[in-house]
Amino acid sequence: MNFKICTMGELLVEFLAKEQHQRFDQTGEFIGPFPSGAPAIFASQVAKLGFPVVFFSCVGKDAFGKMCIKRLKDDGVITDGISLHNKANTGSAFVTYKGPNERDFIFNIPNSACGLLSFDHINEELLKDCNHLHVMGSSLYSFRVIDAMRKALYIVKSNGGTISFDPNLRKEMFDIPEMEASFDYIMDYTDIFLPSESEVSYFASNNTDSEKKTMTLLLKRGVKHIVVKCGSKGANYYGRDAQDNFRTIHADSYAIDTIDPTGAGDCFGATFVSLMLAGYEVETALQYANASGALAVAQKGPMEGTSTLDELKQFIALR
Ligand code: ATP
Ligand code: MG
Repeated sequence: MNFKICTMGELLVEFLAKEQHQRFDQTGEFIGPFPSGAPAIFASQVAKLGFPVVFFSCVGKDAFGKMCIKRLKDDGVITDGISLHNKANTGSAFVTYKGPNERDFIFNIPNSACGLLSFDHINEELLKDCNHLHVMGSSLYSFRVIDAMRKALYIVKSNGGTISFDPNLRKEMFDIPEMEASFDYIMDYTDIFLPSESEVSYFASNNTDSEKKTMTLLLKRGVKHIVVKCGSKGANYYGRDAQDNFRTIHADSYAIDTIDPTGAGDCFGATFVSLMLAGYEVETALQYANASGALAVAQKGPMEGTSTLDELKQFIALR
């Protein structure tokens, strides 16, 4: 099937603390810059699989911005939607690891170039043949970006397209009220929902609801496919079978040494969404998505672990 994906949001450089448990309030060594940003990682992964993807963001007129654009272009992302901002520098983030899966971030996003992404940056021309929009909750950090996202959503829906949504909640962003308000709006349009295990309770109508109950209610609300990402435990799929009955599938992850967990969820989501749009069976899309997540955690750097379809095939064949 012919499809073209669009995504938008934060594009930034990331600096990684060299030592585990390195503190932000003590002088230490960081490595970077690495190109980063959840929707940017998503776009990189879609492009590396060989599918067309348009990415909207803003960078400053600085070397970090140049590096980010070059990297996405090299991966095959359509970068014409990335604007150079006159008034702000490229976003950045510092990351430190408290354990294999626990991270602390200091983000410079809302006041950076990508934080100023707004309605006027969304070029209708670039969207005219897009029939899928992927929304990252982490990208909805200001009323401006939410406006931009609504514009893209409207155009993609007018094209008869579909929507995927990964909440990608970060505790550092919890106090942004616009973000919370926009989630309910997006859920009404979401076809493919990709929360993490830790985010399930946020979407429950009742605190005591199980994952299955919460997901069944979301399917009744109109979501077509849900995948709950469970890190090293793999993923749980919720959807409907050919007879329209609810069905669930658990797909185990691939055992691999974790070098850097950042980006696993974005790679997983990009692979699942792309292969579903390409017409793969749910089971196969889940298997490839798990492989994509596993290869992402095996590389240091947020966007360094994106894979081609051939790399995923080879990885799966060797397991
Ligand atoms: P993020 O914290 O980046 O938002 P996430 O919560 O969205 O991540 P995870 O569940 O951590 O996503 O990871 C997504 C997928 O990547 C998992 O479902 C699994 O397939 C794979 N994955 C993640 N961690 C591991 C691991 N330690 N070993 C093997 N596979 C993993
Ligand atoms: Mg995530």
